[in-house]
Amino acid sequence: QADLKNTLLEINRLAGNYFYYQLKQPQGRVGYEYFRNRGLSDETIRRFGLGYSLKTPDDLYRYMRSKGYGDGILKETGLFYIEERGSRDKFWNRVMFPILDVNNRLIGFGGRVMGEGEPKYLNSPETKLFDKSRNLYGLNFARTSRAGYMLVCEGYMDVIAMHQAGFTNAVASLGTAFTSQHASLLKRYTDQAVLTYDSDGAGTKAALRAIPILKEAGISVKVLDMKPYKDPDEFMKNLGREEFQKRIDSAVGSFMFEISVIRSQYNMQDPESKTAFYNAAARKLLEFPEKLERDAYTEAVAREYMIPQEDLKRLVSSLGGQY
Ligand code: ATP
Ligand code: MN
Ligand code: MN
Ligand code: MN
Repeated sequence: QADLKNTLLEINRLAGNYFYYQLKQPQGRVGYEYFRNRGLSDETIRRFGLGYSLKTPDDLYRYMRSKGYGDGILKETGLFYIEERGSRDKFWNRVMFPILDVNNRLIGFGGRVMGEGEPKYLNSPETKLFDKSRNLYGLNFARTSRAGYMLVCEGYMDVIAMHQAGFTNAVASLGTAFTSQHASLLKRYTDQAVLTYDSDGAGTKAALRAIPILKEAGISVKVLDMKPYKDPDEFMKNLGREEFQKRIDSAVGSFMFEISVIRSQYNMQDPESKTAFYNAAARKLLEFPEKLERDAYTEAVAREYMIPQEDLKRLVSSLGGQY
């Protein structure tokens, strides 16, 4: 088993070097240009070991065979479709993102189409090495950051854009929801997370799901407001690092974020809907079993939504909450 893992690591490392090498060759120029056009420096490309998989269907496969690896082990890497009538590479004409675990072991790859196309990202399948729910992209660098908190985002390009801008404490859960194993892993390095998920509906939903998971692990959570941009990569390109730092500094606690999402579901022009929001906010405040904490948050909600504090308290009390 240990031998198998070591061989898989060795093959991944060879593949990573190969993709990286291709990026610098004439045939990999498209990949290089793609990354440069997205604002990545040579230094960033090198640091993240970014690469390119050729437009030839079995290029990497033949390379690995020439190195003496057999079909059995190559199948275990998840990098190939091994078939009787002819084996092929999984990644084909894509820019490549090697995925490293906290110990810098290359455990898998992500590959993006250049431009439009489906699927936009293709990731290595789970293998004996690669467990998506237990690894965070970028954590190999972020673990030594001294920021005191981690920035948690959705995607490869977000992590890379943030690191390039100096926020080397950014990590992402890749193509999967944030899990309790991700949270335990993060907790080894920090007890404060700032969520920088996409500002669209999917990103908001993902943030709402991640919050209780992080809190359960003992990590306190804030949420960054990305608007009007879609994700950290776009934000950084348009507004730059100083503005991003300001957004970090003014990130709201997870509770106030949750309230604001609830608020967005109601039409405050309509008395019935407005009343329903007050009730929903009051029910949410019942989550705090501790009086002082509930007081503080009740005050904050009352202030933010311009509800007379005594009225909000009375409403919470009528639902069974004590002050
Ligand atoms: P880009 O900026 O390159 O368009 P993105 O990170 O903004 O990428 P999103 O669509 O927001 O792309 O997706 C967020 C993350 O989810 C991606 O970085 C990738 O890890 C994962 N992902 C996206 N599409 C897929 C897919 N089809 N299959 C698996 N994972 C995916
Ligand atoms: Mn998205
Ligand atoms: Mn995105
Ligand atoms: Mn993006």
